[in-house]
Amino acid sequence: MKHNFGAGPCILPKEVFEQASQAVIDFNGTGLSILEISHRSKEFEEVVVETEQLVRELLNVPSGYSILFLQGGASQQFAMVPMNLLPADGKAAYLDTGVWATKAAKEAKRVGQVEIVASSSDQNYNYIPKLYTIPTDAAYFHYTSNNTIYGTEVFDRPATQVPVVVDMSSDILSRNINIADYDLIYAGAQKNMGPAGVTLVIIKDELFGKSGRTNPMIFDYEAHAKAGSMYNTPPVFSIYVSMLNLRWLKAKGGIDVIEQENIIKARTLYDEIDRNPFFRGTAAVEDRSRMNVTFVMENAELEAEFLALAKERNLIGIKGHRSVGGFRASIYNALTISSINALVDTMREFEERKK
Ligand SMILES: *Cc1c(COP(=O)(O)O)cnc(C)c1O
Repeated sequence: MKHNFGAGPCILPKEVFEQASQAVIDFNGTGLSILEISHRSKEFEEVVVETEQLVRELLNVPSGYSILFLQGGASQQFAMVPMNLLPADGKAAYLDTGVWATKAAKEAKRVGQVEIVASSSDQNYNYIPKLYTIPTDAAYFHYTSNNTIYGTEVFDRPATQVPVVVDMSSDILSRNINIADYDLIYAGAQKNMGPAGVTLVIIKDELFGKSGRTNPMIFDYEAHAKAGSMYNTPPVFSIYVSMLNLRWLKAKGGIDVIEQENIIKARTLYDEIDRNPFFRGTAAVEDRSRMNVTFVMENAELEAEFLALAKERNLIGIKGHRSVGGFRASIYNALTISSINALVDTMREFEERKK
């Protein structure tokens, strides 16, 4: 058995893969593959309705918010957010906590005025800035709740009166959040919700038309909301597999249950990193992510050897991102505690061999 610690696309539960493969052959006894059915068919409309319902239920989404399933990944949201929310004479505030946050701000700068309220680039993004001021006249404040590459996470929504927009690509559905605290949440599905190809957007309806810009329809949130995510052909298979994964999460007991598991998984791994004299965590302890655990070896020359042992022990995808180095274990919802234990055992085995 392989233990897949890949950062994204990433692991999904085995039963989701099995159900998805079955639907490729015969979708719900229709005698047709999920890959060939019409997105306008009753059967597929039911899939979209159920997927939306599951998101609403699992995240406790209050009324007044639309749920959209879009394409173009989180990267398309970097552009759609300012196009839809940033007026020509306004400015947007961004918190810079890593590559994705930087890209989001860069894209917004192509649309209008941007103020970076704080950045942790001075320490290669290994912490979350805490002291900064969000201008009260900003059209919105944007931040990245989980910095996939650096292993830092923002657990508390920063205090501000301006609309809050969050890139939750890599921690959506991993812990409880109060949706009413946010105005727009987006997430590429491929980290914690489903396969690549679909992007979840949860948007407060009040935001529709806020920028006063005339955008191409395909980049207009309201157009997608009015069409029930069927403005054009949606990513049928990605939505279907996301639905299967959301069903799995619901059957497990929902966000409360997965959050407790995620806390235990992260603690088990960080405890070993802190205990084992060969390893060291890279993120500031108070900002450590529960989804992406970044660490290096005290002696960098041993890293290739540990990586080779990890491969032998069927641990996949733990090489760190090139901008941080070392290792990164992505431990999303579907990764089990037994995979965490396999990694911890391997770290101990390495210690035994070397000491
Ligand atoms: C992976 C990731 C992205 C990029 O997502 P795409 O769907 O590839 O555009 C953006 N933000 C965060 C936090 C990510 O983890």
